[in-house]
Amino acid sequence: MAFIPSYIELHKKGELEKRITLLLDFLKECRLCPRACRVNRFNGEIGYCRASSELMISSAFPHFGEEPPLVGRHGSGTIFLTHCNLRCIFCQNYDISHQGQGTQITPSDLARTMIRLQEMGCHNINFVTPTHYAPQIISSLPEAIDMGLRLPIVYNCSGYESLEVIKLLDGIVDIYMPDIKFFDEKYSERYSKAPDYPRVVREVLKEMHRQVGDLKMNSSGIAERGLLIRHLVMPNGIASSEIVLKFIAQEISVHSYVNIMAQYRPEYRAYEYPEINRRITHKEYMEAIQIARSFHLYRGF
Ligand code: SF4
Repeated sequence: MAFIPSYIELHKKGELEKRITLLLDFLKECRLCPRACRVNRFNGEIGYCRASSELMISSAFPHFGEEPPLVGRHGSGTIFLTHCNLRCIFCQNYDISHQGQGTQITPSDLARTMIRLQEMGCHNINFVTPTHYAPQIISSLPEAIDMGLRLPIVYNCSGYESLEVIKLLDGIVDIYMPDIKFFDEKYSERYSKAPDYPRVVREVLKEMHRQVGDLKMNSSGIAERGLLIRHLVMPNGIASSEIVLKFIAQEISVHSYVNIMAQYRPEYRAYEYPEINRRITHKEYMEAIQIARSFHLYRGF
């Protein structure tokens, strides 16, 4: 049977419009993420993420560097949002996340962008760093649906999310793709100024998994719905990989699709911190893989 994304049903029932109203309300006293800056973004006030009420994107294109179930033959329809609510000091996209590189667009522009990516054959619409623009992104969906959008929505985020917002995305997002970056608050404070990140990401992942379950693919191996977790191995055990992988196996699901990433390189201000001012070694990466296997994880790496 042909895939029908869950947001189509919500739109038919009029529920999507109700969610948009609720989400837009968050911008008046912004608490879209755990930082809860409580700025009125409609009045031009700017919080930690530096995003205004106007959408900004840095690029939109078929991406062939994402995980195979997202890329398929024609690419993942990736849309990079400007700014970020986490802003790690080692960010490899710091020009977008910290320095605000991008172009202002309207929700109608975004709807047309999604359709263009669909027409190019992309297998999904992959919003990279969507957290601080969740209401504006979802606001663009009705117009995109009316223009024929039928691709799964990928919510490609840092994991530093508001649980309340994630609950409002139930039935809208088909594929959640959160990072688990840290499980030690000392490091999430030092590198991302978010000491509560470990607590937040645990709760948020459980809710995401409750909504969409383990990653499911069609007969061609293309992801249609579910949770896809990313974990970036860092030098000197900074990412607490053993505790992270144990949590995924024992408290999310042993069937979780986990991309254990080896691509860390010191970017932006990482040089200020000697313990993360190098790439990881082959040994550090292989240890993470062995740990994942020892917890009976088997998908995605
Ligand atoms: S989305 Fe931005 S303004 Fe809103 S609470 Fe988070 S960091 Fe603050």
